[in-house]
Amino acid sequence: MANRVVIDAGHGGYDAGASYQGRKEKDDNLNLALKVGEILLKNCIDVRYTRTDDVYDSPYEKAVFANNSGADLFVSIHRNAYLTPNTSRGIETLVYNDEGIKAKLARNINSNLAKLGFDNRGVIERPNLVVLKRTKMPAVLVEAGFIDNEEDNKLFDEKFDKIADAIAMGIIDTIGGGCDENERKLYKVFVGAYNDREDADALLDELKGMGFPAYIMFEDGVYKVMSGAFAILDNAVKMEERLSSMGYNTYITT
Ligand code: ZN
Repeated sequence: MANRVVIDAGHGGYDAGASYQGRKEKDDNLNLALKVGEILLKNCIDVRYTRTDDVYDSPYEKAVFANNSGADLFVSIHRNAYLTPNTSRGIETLVYNDEGIKAKLARNINSNLAKLGFDNRGVIERPNLVVLKRTKMPAVLVEAGFIDNEEDNKLFDEKFDKIADAIAMGIIDTIGGGCDENERKLYKVFVGAYNDREDADALLDELKGMGFPAYIMFEDGVYKVMSGAFAILDNAVKMEERLSSMGYNTYITT
């Protein structure tokens, strides 16, 4: 099964998060979260977003959503701010405690981001943050630079795609990408195998006549009639059940 990751864009709706000269954290968070998710999807990781537009959900709701999602990891995207603008800069990643997979994930993300020119402020324990405390899977909160720092914003804007890549690759380096042979496996539904091509053709026509998908494959010295190839086993099973209920001898192979 593909790895599944919840990507959480911090804040949203009436909760803008930090802001600086009209720039709102919630917007940066959402843009970056969506880009990270896009890269993960391309790497065959199943992505669930806590939000994909400008809405507010409480941190508790986000944690419950994550816990119900069956995800392997929870990654929250934020930007940092300090009391006095332009006095602090750099990236950091927050964890409930500095142990296990989340500690490794946090370091992988930080070191990738640091390569882009951000100061690395390290991994910081924050045991009271709801999204880190209430989530049941390893969870991190990435502070992707200070929104009240001109240099960090310049990096954020100019290297936006690379920042998304750095976070996504930090995730993939920790739990692995999904695009291996196993993920591309297709479940093929076979309806018959014949020594004679004509017999296979006859079944092919019969199946097509009833509206089923049908193909002939020559394998292991025989003509096999296949009625569909499916990425999802459930779908192959449904097709097999339809065919066998009509009296065909079917079997599924990969
Ligand atoms: Zn925030």
